[in-house]
Amino acid sequence: MNEAALLDSVRDGLLIGGHWRPAADGATVDVHDPATGRVIKTVASAGIPDGLAALDAACDAADAWAATSSRTRAEILRRTFDLLMLRSEQFALLMTLEMGKPLAEARGEVVYGGEFLRWFSEIAAHVPGRYGANPEGTGRMIVTQHPVGPCYLITPWNFPLAMATRKIAPALAAGCTVVIKPAALAPLTTTYLAQLLEEAGLPPGVVNVVTTGDPGPMSQAVIADSRLRKLSFTGSTPVGRHLLAQAATGVLRTSMELGGNAPFVVFDDADLDKAVDGALLAKFRNIGQACTAANRFLVQRSVAKDFTRRLTQRVRELRVGRGTEPGVTIGPLIDDKAIAKVEQLVGDAIGRGASVHTGGTRIDGPGTFFAPTVLADVPSGSALLREEIFGPVIGIVSFDDEDEAVALANDTEYGLVSYVYTESMARGQRMIERLRTGMMGLNVGAVSNAAAPFGGWQLSGLGREGGDEGIHEYLQTKYTLTPNPFA
Ligand code: NAD
Repeated sequence: MNEAALLDSVRDGLLIGGHWRPAADGATVDVHDPATGRVIKTVASAGIPDGLAALDAACDAADAWAATSSRTRAEILRRTFDLLMLRSEQFALLMTLEMGKPLAEARGEVVYGGEFLRWFSEIAAHVPGRYGANPEGTGRMIVTQHPVGPCYLITPWNFPLAMATRKIAPALAAGCTVVIKPAALAPLTTTYLAQLLEEAGLPPGVVNVVTTGDPGPMSQAVIADSRLRKLSFTGSTPVGRHLLAQAATGVLRTSMELGGNAPFVVFDDADLDKAVDGALLAKFRNIGQACTAANRFLVQRSVAKDFTRRLTQRVRELRVGRGTEPGVTIGPLIDDKAIAKVEQLVGDAIGRGASVHTGGTRIDGPGTFFAPTVLADVPSGSALLREEIFGPVIGIVSFDDEDEAVALANDTEYGLVSYVYTESMARGQRMIERLRTGMMGLNVGAVSNAAAPFGGWQLSGLGREGGDEGIHEYLQTKYTLTPNPFA
């Protein structure tokens, strides 16, 4: 399917109670290709009445969906997975068009995002309960799990498919209905996924999609509605914090997948070839626009020069361009604001004395491109070491010993993921125990997996997505006591 035909096949309305319709006030929002700056589609922009109508639909469908057998729910998720695999090229191209990642990476996201549908279809029918005598022997304790109820899901633009399936699949597996609000910068993949869920036989109202260019007021109204029982958010820490405050009023269950500031630690006993491969993966996946992106490279002083030289050589070989072009490994950043932020962080580090080994500047448009960059000797105090870069920039800092490496790695209020390269098993084990992080890559540059509990410590969030833990975010526990039947 060519680009025009694909974009034509994506609906431009809101999905509410099984009907595709425009926003109540007719508002729309344009979606751009960041590689060209051109508008590729215009979609409905939901307001407060639309958000509440979507919640009405999710509430109307809630009881029937909760009562649907877990086997049936699992089969719908599995059919959606099968359909996604058949349409994998369309989904990959759509993501490349709306947010710019190279096509090869978009294909990888179809596999990764699809795995959440398959994984949660596999565990939907395996939710455990407990039955047993109380310690006094006077009664029987029964522990059962129940869907939390209607959920509001908010996703970011950087992984348009995987962030949606990572929330929708466990919610549906647990028996919850949802309203999902994708990011305005890349909403088309979520809409296309909802079309797939419909085709797989999902009943109307179980998944409702509200695209919008103005997320604040609508979200506030939905979150304030006492029928909503769960808020799951993936995005930046400041927005997450703001939404948590709103969710406090209704004492909502919340899952927060927020920002990161991942250290990438290379010890002098590391295999440097593997460390360079891992660094490229941990940094440049998604053009550096990943919450799991390595943000600070901490390298033991005795190998820092060698590591920097080898890495710089490989970074110079990266090919920047539109993600649909063959051989391109670095696409555009999402928008001008993203470019301005990266420029400011790089400028600040250079101003403080960091040395530029390659890159360091934006690339002239059309499109919002930034040159893959390596900075060494980044001085402490640089904003680059504190803030999420969200761009193709490596900043290297040297350290002398393990204690200093741990202190530097833990010197952040975030705690999503850490990467460590060492050939020493004992040192690797010490780092597992000493780093304050929700996830860790030990001699690997990517950790994400649908079967693993993804999530962070500290300001990186609350709760876990994926793994066995993922479904429990959408379940609530009931404990029942009955008398000892033999007494
Ligand atoms: P963002 O916080 O700007 O937006 C995320 C979502 O929140 C979007 O859908 C946006 O429309 C919505 N939003 C923004 N303001 C809102 C408001 N006032 N009320 C309700 N919704 C609102 O983040 P982003 O730029 O889309 O994504 C990048 C951020 O997401 C980075 O910080 C990244 O680390 C984080 N992220 C985290 C994970 C994770 O799993 N921890 C995964 C991907 C991205």
